[in-house]
Amino acid sequence: MKKLSILGATGSIGMQTLDVLRKSPGEFELLGVTANSSVEKMKDIITEFNPKYLAMMNTESAKEIECFCREKQFNIKVYSGMAGLIKIATLEEINIALIAVVGMIGLKPTMAAIEANKDIALANKETLVVAGEIVMKRACEKGVKILPVDSEHSAIFQALQGNDIKSLKKIILTASGGPFRGKSAKELENISVDEALNHPNWSMGNKITIDSATLMNKGLEVIEAHFLFNCDYDNIQVLVHPESIIHSMVEYKDSSIIAQLGSADMRLPIQYALNYTCRKNEIAKSIDFYEISQLNFEKPNTDVFRCLKLAFKAGTRGGVMPAIMNAANEVAVDLFLNKKIQFLEISHIIEDAMVNFEEHMNTELTIDNVINIDNKVREYVLNKNS
Ligand code: NAD
Ligand code: MG
Repeated sequence: MKKLSILGATGSIGMQTLDVLRKSPGEFELLGVTANSSVEKMKDIITEFNPKYLAMMNTESAKEIECFCREKQFNIKVYSGMAGLIKIATLEEINIALIAVVGMIGLKPTMAAIEANKDIALANKETLVVAGEIVMKRACEKGVKILPVDSEHSAIFQALQGNDIKSLKKIILTASGGPFRGKSAKELENISVDEALNHPNWSMGNKITIDSATLMNKGLEVIEAHFLFNCDYDNIQVLVHPESIIHSMVEYKDSSIIAQLGSADMRLPIQYALNYTCRKNEIAKSIDFYEISQLNFEKPNTDVFRCLKLAFKAGTRGGVMPAIMNAANEVAVDLFLNKKIQFLEISHIIEDAMVNFEEHMNTELTIDNVINIDNKVREYVLNKNS
């Protein structure tokens, strides 16, 4: 039986991971879970899964959960804060940690899990964006597997099985195009939060849904793919494919292309990552090709969706630039969700931060420096926009 922890268990990926466990009786033991402050969802998880260890980022929420456990006689060790997250990511008993927190807050627990020789099922793309070079290098040195959960990267990972990565010509990263595909910049001026949260194909957490609307999600995924598969940015092509049936493709030197297809259901890549190298039973609906009848493809419009262009720029610049870009994006998305800025301001804020922090480009790439510059960028963006 595989033993695991889920960081970010109350989120969209976390809950879908719980569903994969539910549908795999006797195969997994859930030992640890974490959340930020969702007390009610956590109580449900405790009642159903009875994990041995738990952490809430928020101290007050941790106290509430402790009271609940005492009252209902659950024998669960409760931790809080970043130390708590790290504890759950590194539990002695676990084989694998599924990291599904949102944002670069996942970096420290991911690094800690690698140091503790735990395999990682990684949904938390921001961690690879801000410090992919360090994360992948250390995982390689420790012989730890980084198993992608993001659907595109899972598709690429699956399409690479049995092939020599050296014979890879390019990665074709598909994108749904989000809710505003085909719109002009003028039409995006007065987009509301609700409109931006209405993704056509996927139901996800708020931050990634806004990232999908700006195409920053694809930008983050380009950087994620660069580090996961050691692929030059020139060899990563973004392809808009509105149906989200082809989850990504790889093209080999002989121009042969291998794609992974499936319904838009994150439980599929989650199950694949948790069971790698085995393929398990049906978790997602089969695709009926008679019903689909056609698949469409377009070139992304990076003049309108400038975040994608900025991400290629940050990735190519390398060093701490992706961390600068990511921090500005995390704050800008939060400001937009709180109705403090307009939709189109997100890309302007990111670009401004990238220009302003260019002088930090000689910063050595270490975890501490990445966290440091992340804090500085957040402070800068917040000061300038509130
Ligand atoms: P979500 O907002 O639904 O859930 C986030 C989880 O992280 C929650 O459990 C929350 O309690 C926890 N969390 C939030 N802030 C935290 C903090 N400061 N400290 C500790 N814990 C915190 O997000 P999601 O949609 O599940 O996405 C999670 C990650 O997976 C993101 O990096 C996202 O880009 C990636 N991802 C998500 C999907 C998807 O379909 N949702 C697909 C691919 C990749
Ligand atoms: Mg994705």
